Amino acid sequence: MTEPPRREDNGRRQQVRPMRMETLAVHAGRAVDPATGAVTPPIHLSTTFERAPDGSYPRGYLYGRDGNPNRAALEECLRELEGGAEAAAFASGSAASQAVLMSLSPGSHVVAPRDVYHGTARLMREIMAPWGLDVTFVDMDQPDRLAQALRPHTGLVWIETPSNPLLKITDIAAAVDAAHQAGAVCVCDNTFATPVLQRPLDLGADLVVHATTKYLGGHTDVLGGVVIGRTENDMFRRIRDVQVRGGAVPSPFDCWLVLRSIGTLPYRMRGHCDNAAKVAAFLDDHPGVEAVYYPGLRHHAGHHVAARQMRPFGGMVSFQVRGGRDGAMAVAAAVKIFTRASSLGGVESLIEHRASIEGPGTTTPENLLRMSVGLENADDLIEDLAQALSRAMERDEAGPGDGDSRG
Ligand SMILES: *Cc1c(COP(=O)(O)O)cnc(C)c1O
Repeated sequence: MTEPPRREDNGRRQQVRPMRMETLAVHAGRAVDPATGAVTPPIHLSTTFERAPDGSYPRGYLYGRDGNPNRAALEECLRELEGGAEAAAFASGSAASQAVLMSLSPGSHVVAPRDVYHGTARLMREIMAPWGLDVTFVDMDQPDRLAQALRPHTGLVWIETPSNPLLKITDIAAAVDAAHQAGAVCVCDNTFATPVLQRPLDLGADLVVHATTKYLGGHTDVLGGVVIGRTENDMFRRIRDVQVRGGAVPSPFDCWLVLRSIGTLPYRMRGHCDNAAKVAAFLDDHPGVEAVYYPGLRHHAGHHVAARQMRPFGGMVSFQVRGGRDGAMAVAAAVKIFTRASSLGGVESLIEHRASIEGPGTTTPENLLRMSVGLENADDLIEDLAQALSRAMERDEAGPGDGDSRG
């Protein structure tokens, strides 16, 4: 795996530590516990911390909502992985996204992708628009659409690349340029790529958000989110205020779990990417498949931009099944190793009919399935999809009503 380009100016630590991604993932934010010598960090459950006789807090912590050693360690690690100056951890990816939106002023205009994560779209439409944000959704993979949508009061350009579920690619550097020319800030949701594959701050983005629930947590057992800032500035101070005043903070154990998982992140991403590339190539040749969406495929509309800003191409693959919605449902019903479930980024492979979770108004094709390709053996995953596709094709030939009745 090639290293993402690295910024030269992000702090003292670069001089005292080897900074390659695998090493950072193991060491950033970690230290042997000075009190006990424990190599694995202890979990600090205390919600309050002792004051010195003079009333000060000499160890830096006062109350669990304001700060906690496990949260501080996780924030330091994530900040270093993305090459930022600041990081604020949240109880979910959505809480992190909301903190970014709340750092704007009511009346601000936001431009967001039409295919932004559907939870983010609902947060913008149902919570933040009534609060006072003015949101325009555009096809963010078409640079002229972003330029047309920018207004004098645009405060934020939200990008997400690769996007969900069509794995569309936005040119990060170009979106940043357009945002900055309009006097707006650019935030990139980097959940699908992770800092192992793509570092938006290096490409000029001002903020990165993650659902650590996904690849960073990596084991489908913890919700979390983070906002990372390229520089210390007023906007980041407001994000920090939303974190500690609003209090949507992760528990110490949640922070411990995410930090524990990050140690294997670069190796897990390698496995996810290798398996996804093999699965995508198999589907691309299959007669029961109409279309495959994977940025690593040469015919993918965003392949060239992805190859420039993201290495390699991630663990998410979507495909359209012949036979419409019924065909897609039949494939999802027939898989044995893939689990039919939402979410992504865990060690186990998941498959999902996106249109039904996104609900009425979705623009996702009815015959589309999205997969989070896990860390099983790629041949087992391919054999599983092969048997599911052939069962769906038999069912299609037999006509409606004759197929497998499961699911
Ligand atoms: C899951 C996800 C989120 C939201 O994270 P939660 O932890 O579920 O709130 C945001 N963006 C992307 C791209 C996601 O996949």
